[in-house]
Amino acid sequence: MGKPLYITTPLYYVNAKPHLGHAYTTLLGDTLKSFALQQGRECFFLAGTDEHGEKIAQSAEKAGKSPMEFVDEVAALFEGTWKLLGLNPDISYRTTRPSHIKLVQEALQRLKDQGDIRFSSYTGKYCLGCERFRTDQEWDEKGLCPDHQRPPEIREESNYFFNMEKYRQKTLEYYRGHSDAIVPHHYMKEALAMLEEPLEDLCISRPTSRITWGIPLPFDRNYVTYVWFDALLSYLGGLGYTGRPLAEEKSFRHDLWGQSQHLIGKDILKTHAVYWPTMLLALGLEPARQLQVNGFWLTAGLKMSKSLGNVVDPVKVYEIFGAEAFRYFLMRDMSYGVDASFTWESFVSRANSELANGIGNLASRTLTLVHKNLEARVPSAAHRNDEDRALLAKVDGLPSKFAEEFANARYHVALASFAETVATCDRYINDTKPWSLAKDPAQKDRLAAVLGTMLDALSLLSVVMQSVLPEGSRKLRSALGFTNDPEVLAWELTGLRPKEGTPLGEVPRLYPRLELPKDPDATV
Ligand SMILES: [Zn+2]
Repeated sequence: MGKPLYITTPLYYVNAKPHLGHAYTTLLGDTLKSFALQQGRECFFLAGTDEHGEKIAQSAEKAGKSPMEFVDEVAALFEGTWKLLGLNPDISYRTTRPSHIKLVQEALQRLKDQGDIRFSSYTGKYCLGCERFRTDQEWDEKGLCPDHQRPPEIREESNYFFNMEKYRQKTLEYYRGHSDAIVPHHYMKEALAMLEEPLEDLCISRPTSRITWGIPLPFDRNYVTYVWFDALLSYLGGLGYTGRPLAEEKSFRHDLWGQSQHLIGKDILKTHAVYWPTMLLALGLEPARQLQVNGFWLTAGLKMSKSLGNVVDPVKVYEIFGAEAFRYFLMRDMSYGVDASFTWESFVSRANSELANGIGNLASRTLTLVHKNLEARVPSAAHRNDEDRALLAKVDGLPSKFAEEFANARYHVALASFAETVATCDRYINDTKPWSLAKDPAQKDRLAAVLGTMLDALSLLSVVMQSVLPEGSRKLRSALGFTNDPEVLAWELTGLRPKEGTPLGEVPRLYPRLELPKDPDATV
């Protein structure tokens, strides 16, 4: 067994239904979990929803509902979407669960008791979209919030503040000692830059005169907890942490915490790379083991957001194209860490070139030839030549390359190398022309050697593809005659060759060609 792994998505803010960006991180988490299981690692995958705060109270009011009714509905929508897309988090954590409220209050009380929280008044520029005061440098040239394109509101408030500065050096030391604690690396540089200047105290409360939809401070009922302070603690709550001193934590999975990977979007780097480690250090815990930071999904060059009205609904994409193509496209077309574009054209083109015409076609033409010419059985490897061995040597390089790219959060590169290997196999078939060999009885051994080589290659590909293309992998395995597969295809199975004489299953139709929707914009 390798080390255990703890994967989290962000706690999604439930003021609207899930969009493509939400689907992406959840799908990535699900893929990483499947991949970890293939590597023989225990893996716990948390997804969840952030359900407190001003914007949610406002959305609920607009919908004519109580905040609790509202968040119940939207949280169910999120959970339902993951189910529909075939994504299976081990826990759907909700910040309105009673155990979480208790955890947040316990943690706050401890930080207060140890002198990390003070009360004072503050005047500043507040973004209603971010639900926080932004510093003077955090507004764009036009004076707007760069994330929400809103002007600031000037607010004065008496509030409680958390002393982040006290833990700044320790956070810096942690990052300097763990160079892969934030990937891709340019986000580590950004985080270090934020931590090189003294940190202002973090305002962690909101007066109930203005907002009541939040977790009451345990030491002052005139205030509720700032949503970020509340939501970040979910990552610990999911592992059984209750907020008590560590020595008293009976069921907290400390081992999993030591292998925690937070998947986040680049817009929440500061909360995760600066606020969160200072909170953890104050609670006597180590910062998260790794932040993996992805870019935005753009449409027409803009980040998708409800306020901009350019949201691609993942459920619509799924209904039109199915879960596998969806999963493949998102993992393949986002260069991890930078922004990516969603267009229907690029989706269809990617799926057709690498799924329908790629692995799908490779499998069906190989298997059809075996069915027609070799009585649908795995042939002998006795007559293979250097050309066959050269192909398999190339194919055999894929699992380690793929695993290495996954370990470095270069998922798009891992899938590119999968697609390249499929293309290499295609060239081999085009060069060896098994359909011509089949017409010449004198070439029977050569035909068996070529098709047997291809069955070996397909067998390896069927294992490598499981985390991203689970359905196709299952169909392909059964077509290759593997009838007793475990649910998780251990990575070592990439070395297993189909056994001579094994009867094959039916020729699968893995990935049909996709057509562009007639009026794609009307369907989004
Ligand atoms: Zn904002």
